Amino acid sequence: MRNKIVAGNWKMNTTPVEGIALVSEVLEAIKNIDLEHKKVVFGVPAVSITSVASVIGDTSNVYVASQNVSSYDSGAYTGEISAAMLVASGAAMAIIGHSERREYFNETNEVLAVKVDKVLDKGVVAIYCCGEVLEERKNGTFETVIQNQIEEGLFHLSEDQMKNVVIAYEPVWAIGTGETASPEQAQAVHAFIRRLVANKYGAELAENTSVLYGGSMKPGNAKELMGMADIDGGLVGGASLKSSDFVEIIKAM
Ligand code: PEP
Repeated sequence: MRNKIVAGNWKMNTTPVEGIALVSEVLEAIKNIDLEHKKVVFGVPAVSITSVASVIGDTSNVYVASQNVSSYDSGAYTGEISAAMLVASGAAMAIIGHSERREYFNETNEVLAVKVDKVLDKGVVAIYCCGEVLEERKNGTFETVIQNQIEEGLFHLSEDQMKNVVIAYEPVWAIGTGETASPEQAQAVHAFIRRLVANKYGAELAENTSVLYGGSMKPGNAKELMGMADIDGGLVGGASLKSSDFVEIIKAM
């Protein structure tokens, strides 16, 4: 049975002190919620990983994720943070290939494939993002774009490695715009992604792979989106910065 997951992506927001307050509020509000077969993830700035991990402590089914990782292991790479460093800081997951990293930092499928390897090698779950821009949605090439992102970023992995991958479908036109893919639009792409995984790794592995939706998910639309057959949760940007909104989305899971 695949896990349902609600993962926050704080992006470049919150200081460590603010992060501690935000996570503490969320944990307090969800302390009586049964998280069996469910995960709550906080994708925080690298400087907050240690402090947020210590607030979470051994709370079941709650994890910290980084928002990036270096494609190098160590050495003269100023400003980079390795997978080993992330693990040592307390990260159990890593968001890889967010569209903002693809767009502003020129991360290609090729480099993302290496980043996925780096985190999986250290036992960190990769939350691998894919999704089309508006033009690709309009001109009908979006399935090809998503297929390339998934094949080139993930399909070099072994079956065992693939079990530690979560896929996030994030239509770029819906990120931070207030515009959401309709549940039907998102479901169609999620089913497409699951078919790709099934064709490569078999139906059982595909059935057990969590595929999250991201793009202006909020309390008002979370339940409907996550109610679709192939939508296993959300990667949540803006709404993860307000504890009450994030808690509502967790409750909708
Ligand atoms: C994101 O950053 O992954 C995201 C989905 O952002 P938002 O929820 O703000 O659209």
